[in-house]
Amino acid sequence: MTNSKNLRFECIRCGNCCTDKNTLVNLTYYDILRIKNGLDLNIQEILDSIGFYISKEKVSAENLHKMVIAPIETEKGLAFIGLLKNEKGYCHFYDEQKRKCLIYNLRPLFCRTFPFSFTFDRNNIDIIYTKKGLEYCSGISEEASFINLDYWIKLAKKVFNKLNKNNEIIKIWNDNIAKNKKIPSVKNFIKLVLSLDKA
Ligand code: SF4
Ligand code: SF4
Repeated sequence: MTNSKNLRFECIRCGNCCTDKNTLVNLTYYDILRIKNGLDLNIQEILDSIGFYISKEKVSAENLHKMVIAPIETEKGLAFIGLLKNEKGYCHFYDEQKRKCLIYNLRPLFCRTFPFSFTFDRNNIDIIYTKKGLEYCSGISEEASFINLDYWIKLAKKVFNKLNKNNEIIKIWNDNIAKNKKIPSVKNFIKLVLSLDKA
């Protein structure tokens, strides 16, 4: 069930979401594994495609648990995981000349759901435009078609499951760091993610 009706959106591939320097293209463990397997990357190549963006503000334990994708503890402090950006702030996988995504079929959940986010309340799923979507997504317009709700609700359910699992993994990681059971290196975190591929 959803109360979200009359949402208009058609991606016109303007590339704004791939080139906005202030947009963090979040990665879940699931995205990392899909890109790694799809491109057959080794651990160093994975690290070369990922950015660990250090949180500028102190995040309380309470707020950590409320985040859609929580940051992880690293050698340099709490860091959000996202695709790396080039010197212009464009996504590492954006081909500027061809104006297209080089990993379209492997793109992260963030890119698949943009410009929407979802809220869940018992059996109800609401779909809303994100702030960034409203700010610069050219696909949101009065001329665009209404979205296919069945498609987006199905995607929302999948994303919800993946995000829950992702936050469980991050919680275990952060708890282990707090208890000094692990060294907080980003390489170790990626090793943990890779171990899930075999699980
Ligand atoms: S992964 Fe592809 S779709 Fe996502 S931001 Fe990068 S270039 Fe754009
Ligand atoms: S900003 Fe919107 S229209 Fe442009 S590529 Fe991204 S999703 Fe598509």
